[in-house]
Amino acid sequence: MDAQDKRTETNPSDRQTDHYDYLIVGAGLFGSTFARLATDAGKKCLVIEERDHVGGNLYCEKIAGITVHMYGAHIFQTEEDKVWDFVNRYATWKKYGYGYIPEGGYNVLIENLLKDIPVRTGVSYAAFCKDCPDSADIVIYTGPIDAFFDCCHGRLGYSCLDIQIKEIDQEHYQDKAFCLQSRHPAWVQTVEFKYISGEVSDKTVVSWERIQDEWDPNLLPCRPSRYDGNGNYKRYLQYVKEAAKKYPNIVFCGRLGRYMPYNMPETIVEAMKLAQIRLNT
Ligand SMILES: Cc1cc2nc3c(=O)[nH]c(=O)nc-3n(C[C@H](O)[C@H](O)[C@H](O)COP(=O)(O)OP(=O)(O)OC[C@H]3O[C@@H](n4cnc5c(N)ncnc54)[C@H](O)[C@@H]3O)c2cc1C
Repeated sequence: MDAQDKRTETNPSDRQTDHYDYLIVGAGLFGSTFARLATDAGKKCLVIEERDHVGGNLYCEKIAGITVHMYGAHIFQTEEDKVWDFVNRYATWKKYGYGYIPEGGYNVLIENLLKDIPVRTGVSYAAFCKDCPDSADIVIYTGPIDAFFDCCHGRLGYSCLDIQIKEIDQEHYQDKAFCLQSRHPAWVQTVEFKYISGEVSDKTVVSWERIQDEWDPNLLPCRPSRYDGNGNYKRYLQYVKEAAKKYPNIVFCGRLGRYMPYNMPETIVEAMKLAQIRLNT
């Protein structure tokens, strides 16, 4: 085992030479939900994630004793019983405003979904394939479909998120969790996380979230602009066609793989649908 594997492997009995029913690329909400459903259906799964943490956009960190959503504030809201029942199996939820958040943050949800499933963080699909080609029957790919094909048909449009997070040495910065600062030229809001989590601290943590329509390689592609009239959807279909022709054993899914602006409940529904088709669950 090399140094990188020592750092990233969460299940030491898992070896690079193993063969898997499913290789799941991306430990975001989609990948984690599908991995759970497939594992519970008796399939052997490996999850790889290029970031150094699991959770995708839901990832949280504790700063000054406050749970901070590192890729933008997330509130969970669903009317679907099957989604609500499902998430309640993996976290305890408390009411926040119009929706809910998990007690202890979204990491609790993701870690419980991935419990006892081998996960390697800090490993991209390209790097993994170099070391372990053909290690799975089916690949569930939740990264951006255009990047998978090196954007050969052109880049798909995404709104991008610029987020700055600051710890502030005072009890409060603003009088509520969300304050809209501007809509033009970009949409900017400040979020004070202790109002969301209910945690008590002498300090506070605030994010400045700016969402812009133009692509910026240094920012997080956050919202697929599927219907923007700039030929994105047509380009997306070219990628879908190419994927079906060249990679029949790779399923492109999740927000970035399907190029759909799913919220969390829709992401779970889509993972459930895929599990139903693939696993008869
Ligand atoms: C700013 C913001 C605010 C949001 N607020 C809400 C909200 O309040 N309520 C709500 O319901 N939804 C919200 N959402 C939507 C929510 O984040 C998504 O529904 C959900 O995160 C989608 O999960 P996913 O697994 O499809 O994608 P992601 O979370 O993007 O996960 C994909 C994962 O794949 C990894 N990956 C990509 N390429 C590779 C590769 N080549 N190799 C290895 N790993 C790879 C990525 O690092 C990432 O971890 C918000 C989204 C954003 C951006």
